[in-house]
Amino acid sequence: MKISMVSEHASPLAALGEVDAGGQNVHVAELSAGLARAGHEVTVYTRRDDPDQPDELTMPGGYRVIHVPAGPPRHVPKDELLPFMGEFTRFLRERWELDRPDVVHAHFWMSGLASLMAARPAGIPVVQTFHALGVVKRRYQGAHDTSPSERIGLERLIGRHAARIAATCSDEVFELVRMGLPRSRMSVVPCGVDLTMFTPSGPKQPRGNRYRIVSVGRLVPRKGFDVAIAALRSLPETELVIVGGPREGELAEDPEARRLLRFAAELGVDDRVRLTGRITRTDMPSLLRSADVVVCTPWYEPFGIVPLEAMACGIPVVASAVGGLTDTIVDGVTGTHVPPRRADAVAAAVRRLLSDAALRDAYGIAGADRARCRYSWDRIAADASRVYERAVPTAVVSGEETG
Ligand code: UDP
Repeated sequence: MKISMVSEHASPLAALGEVDAGGQNVHVAELSAGLARAGHEVTVYTRRDDPDQPDELTMPGGYRVIHVPAGPPRHVPKDELLPFMGEFTRFLRERWELDRPDVVHAHFWMSGLASLMAARPAGIPVVQTFHALGVVKRRYQGAHDTSPSERIGLERLIGRHAARIAATCSDEVFELVRMGLPRSRMSVVPCGVDLTMFTPSGPKQPRGNRYRIVSVGRLVPRKGFDVAIAALRSLPETELVIVGGPREGELAEDPEARRLLRFAAELGVDDRVRLTGRITRTDMPSLLRSADVVVCTPWYEPFGIVPLEAMACGIPVVASAVGGLTDTIVDGVTGTHVPPRRADAVAAAVRRLLSDAALRDAYGIAGADRARCRYSWDRIAADASRVYERAVPTAVVSGEETG
């Protein structure tokens, strides 16, 4: 198949470089490479956010990336990108007139909007993956949610008009159904994990005699690093390594890093909390392997690739039972689920694992097994291509229905 991926703000180039790429960048890069390996022709459209980027390039994964000129060629926060989506749409429409894809897979709501506007007139089916939903963000972030006010309404509209919705987890399916969207047009296509990099054997970052728990993610409040810090109070002889955010040298300027360190000092555990800043993907496996337990304590999590990466490295995970984490982690088999924002429950779950090396090993082996069997990118690419196949005839039908 000829597949166009649209990812307006999350470029696959960022996933391979130095910047702190989030899950969507990794997802688009790895899914595209997986589909290319399976023989599909994949082109990713992403907004030009640097004047030095070439118009077009072929990635080592065997897919093409096209930089779309829409808005200023510099980083613009994603919540400020909506005004540039008209320009983005026009570019897509012109491209697809010359070079028609069989299917478009849009990532995030603004990509869905641009893709539908560009593809529907030509009858090209659009598969939508939201990655995060405005209703969920609003629920948890309230007044701190900086998304444009149109987001929630537009997501419902995109969901209605997409040929199919590829949700990343079953919790997202429930949310979409609650938004009034038809379950019959939804499939679950999770994120995967790079099983060549994230393996149980391999180098481990050196560490001291203390137990080590590791938490990874962008330094934003909803990732709940403060819950892991609070849990340290009842975990003696244990250090917490928090990975993510700006580069290490810039942490002192980062408001969330400062808040977390202040909080650790207030609780008297600051001598056992270390923030490393962001690290490259290449350094991630050895860092994860150095942990006794990986702790993921977000308030909510649309998918969460980090726990999968930890599982693939054979490390047990203690995680909030939210979003994608309820699909990936099997409670009592590959890790432990805890209620969100409950430091006492995190401490109890970690303590149990730290006191039982055989249990840690058992969870680690089961986690690596589950990652290998269910979450290889080749398997995810096969899941996605089945959704694309189902989208092709549906698009014609829904086009007739809606005129
Ligand atoms: N990551 C990284 N370096 C860092 C922090 C994170 O390479 O310093 C990677 C991490 O390994 C994972 C991704 O960024 O692959 C984060 O994805 P996740 O879905 O967990 O969170 P998101 O950032 O999308 O909310």
